[in-house]
Amino acid sequence: MLDIHILTLFPEMFLGPFSQSMLKRAQERGLVAITLHNPRDFTHDRHHVVDDAPYGGGPGMVMKPEPIFEAVEAVQQGLETAHGRDAGSAPVLLLSPQGRPFTQAVAQELTGQSALILLCGHYEGVDARVEADSGGPATDCISIGDYVLTGGELPAMVLVDALVRLLPGVLHDPASPLEDSFGTGLGGLLGYPQYTRPPTYRGLEVPPELLSGDHAAVARWRRRQALLRTWRRRPDLLPNADLTPSERAFLETLEQEEGEK
Ligand code: SAM
Repeated sequence: MLDIHILTLFPEMFLGPFSQSMLKRAQERGLVAITLHNPRDFTHDRHHVVDDAPYGGGPGMVMKPEPIFEAVEAVQQGLETAHGRDAGSAPVLLLSPQGRPFTQAVAQELTGQSALILLCGHYEGVDARVEADSGGPATDCISIGDYVLTGGELPAMVLVDALVRLLPGVLHDPASPLEDSFGTGLGGLLGYPQYTRPPTYRGLEVPPELLSGDHAAVARWRRRQALLRTWRRRPDLLPNADLTPSERAFLETLEQEEGEK
């Protein structure tokens, strides 16, 4: 079971997404446990203040370090008590637009952990002393994309969803994440196009290869489509994709044809 602890000033934001569909089932089946902690509960003043004006001036407020340090320490102690000494050294991931990009490979890497602690920033972000390179409790910094959101809550939900669906036993068919875009089964390509019944709809046909019943022909068609889609939509993925020499040659032909147009 993966034990995920999320530090957030807005725990109510998680209630909808975490109580539906796959995340709900994964928790009910004991494959993941998700616990929300509010840094406000780790303040010691009468007004439970969690933010303050930035040193040096400027707009907005910054999340204070003390409640975050204390909340992380409390979670680490709880993990040690529940799962033994090593659990206290679980990765502490700070969600930040300045972090390393979150990808399917990072999600896969995180499935190897038995516990994770996620820190959601808000306002202008968290006091920099929380970060790893300042000696703070965060061990890593993760971004879900090159844009700025109001808080780390949505990024934490994205990370948890992407990660939990990769845990063994969560999806009905364990092979399905392999065939997803970026999955290892497709060598890092985008997924192939999918169709379902009816075979013709408003004059739009399902490709005949998929109706042929010939498994090898279906597999060849899908691989070719995954390659074409990636070439058209995300050529930046191709240099690191796991391709055969003949697939590389096919892409070079496409490039030449494109150049001649
Ligand atoms: N002032 C910060 C900056 O320029 O990098 C942005 C702060 S943002 C308004 C508030 C919080 O939202 C951040 O501390 C972080 O937790 C979260 N956040 C916003 N965008 C994010 C992203 N793309 N990925 C991960 N977390 C993000």
